[in-house]
Amino acid sequence: MCITCVKEEFPDRESVCLDSGSYMLNFAGCAQCGEKSCLSTVNRQTSEDESEEEVTTYQHVCQSCNHVIANHEHIFRIEEDFQVYEMLCLLCGRSDDQRSIMPCDPRGPKPEHSDFD
Ligand SMILES: [Zn+2]
Ligand SMILES: [Zn+2]
Ligand SMILES: [Zn+2]
Repeated sequence: MCITCVKEEFPDRESVCLDSGSYMLNFAGCAQCGEKSCLSTVNRQTSEDESEEEVTTYQHVCQSCNHVIANHEHIFRIEEDFQVYEMLCLLCGRSDDQRSIMPCDPRGPKPEHSDFD
């Protein structure tokens, strides 16, 4: 992981938990080659164990020089009546969210966010 390439380390994203894409707003630019607009995500892996926890990991790398900017981790699990999401990434930040698995969640659907590419 590389703190030189991000504006803020592990920014607080509240309930924005994503398992794909890159949080470009927090990308300061590649410290190695200066690229500011293009990130790739590579080495995506999803593991599922018996506890029904699903962990998705991938790396954000610079598209021009393959410099590794951050390791992204996203966790999904079921806890009683809730689906629990957690995200931890130097670039994308940290967040967690819970959604009821009952058909009518009184809090309603989450809004879409557009700050990931
Ligand atoms: Zn870097
Ligand atoms: Zn680069
Ligand atoms: Zn990330």
